[in-house]
Amino acid sequence: MADHCQTGSVGFLEDATHYMDLAARKLQIDEGTLKVLKEPKRVLSVSVPIRMDDARVEVFRGFRVQHNLILGPAKGGIRFHPDVTMEEVVALAMLMTWKCAVVDIPFGGAKGAVICNPRELTKGELERLTRRYVSEISLIIGPEKDIPAPDVNTNPQIMAWIMDTFSMQTGFTAPSVVTGKPLELGGSHGRNEATGRGVVFNIEDACFHLKMNLAAATAAVQGFGNVGYVAAKTLHDLGCRVVALSDSRGGVYCEQGLDPVEVMAFKRQTGSVLDFPEATNITNEELLVTECDILVPAALESQITADNAPRVQARLIAEGANGPITPQADRILEERGITVIPDILANAGGVIVSYFEWVQGLQHFFWSAEEVNRQLRRRIIDSFRKVYAIKEEQGVSLRIAAYMLALDKVAKAMRLRGLYP
Ligand code: NAD
Repeated sequence: MADHCQTGSVGFLEDATHYMDLAARKLQIDEGTLKVLKEPKRVLSVSVPIRMDDARVEVFRGFRVQHNLILGPAKGGIRFHPDVTMEEVVALAMLMTWKCAVVDIPFGGAKGAVICNPRELTKGELERLTRRYVSEISLIIGPEKDIPAPDVNTNPQIMAWIMDTFSMQTGFTAPSVVTGKPLELGGSHGRNEATGRGVVFNIEDACFHLKMNLAAATAAVQGFGNVGYVAAKTLHDLGCRVVALSDSRGGVYCEQGLDPVEVMAFKRQTGSVLDFPEATNITNEELLVTECDILVPAALESQITADNAPRVQARLIAEGANGPITPQADRILEERGITVIPDILANAGGVIVSYFEWVQGLQHFFWSAEEVNRQLRRRIIDSFRKVYAIKEEQGVSLRIAAYMLALDKVAKAMRLRGLYP
């Protein structure tokens, strides 16, 4: 895999394959199948030149990785971030394969990214960057091939530009090339909230098994973007006391509980949750080890490490973000009896409703918000139960159980299709 990966560290990628190895050993998956599953099917690296507002030409680097297409078209978000690397995108694409398989939707895994800091771009520059990136990757995306979605720093407006660019190139409107679109362009009710909502559906299921009363529990949420905000708000709505919240600049703590809606209104005015009235400023590091029952890391990967895992106080962690816990930390948390709902299950709500959006788009038949949420809850509950049953049967963590469910499904499909030619 190193051949494909020439930038940055391979840590996150190694982390992603580590769990595959453990699950494959349990399932006794043969070495050949495992070799295939560890390699991304396609890695496209593109140059993205755009004209800046001051007439300069700037060149950005973008990627689109398709990890596996055995179960259907590839599916995965697009991230705009200054530190993103190709290895990270490969690892994230791989996680998408397992995530789609865990929740039983007919997609393979993909991910895309552009190395850029969207905060330093004007709206016009961001639009030109998105459109040029999409033109460059249009070779491999399409409603039946690979369907992008939002991820860190990308949103429904960016999805609208993706849809428009692709449609201009094909000569007809192709809404199903992308999900997470605005409702006016064929987006689905509930897509924006789906990931955070799915995180909380998982937490509710886990609380049932842990005999934890969610309405009397406390929670801390790292990352106050799409996933973190909705997860915090949904927890708050269920009576859970959200004692700490954070964004990239730092966090706030309030023992009596924070109202995520008020904190978001404050963040919209000031640019950060920091200095929210009647709360104490804390660092992101402090948030992760703060006293609470439930911790939701919903920012970026590798946040809970061997350094801070021994000090985590929560009894339950739901991975809103992809890969927020390193394998070393995961082992420590397991030894300490802390339950972790793994990313490929915890944050699958987004891709589930993306699947609903794709299906609705292909059928030109749209569902109500109630229908979307009912189907989302049903899928999360089904998947959680299947994963929990494997955990109990096999005596493994929820994470390894989720990987076992996913790997088994993909490996069986591979065996049935056979190795081409
Ligand atoms: P977002 O851009 O909407 O929000 C990210 C948040 O994290 C922002 O509040 C940002 O300030 C904060 N942040 C960034 N760096 C941080 C740091 N070092 N410490 C603390 N906070 C930090 O992104 P999002 O869509 O909410 O995605 C968050 C995570 O969830 C990512 O790992 C993403 O891959 C994952 N995820 C997102 C979706 C989705 O549907 N959006 C689905 C599945 C998984």
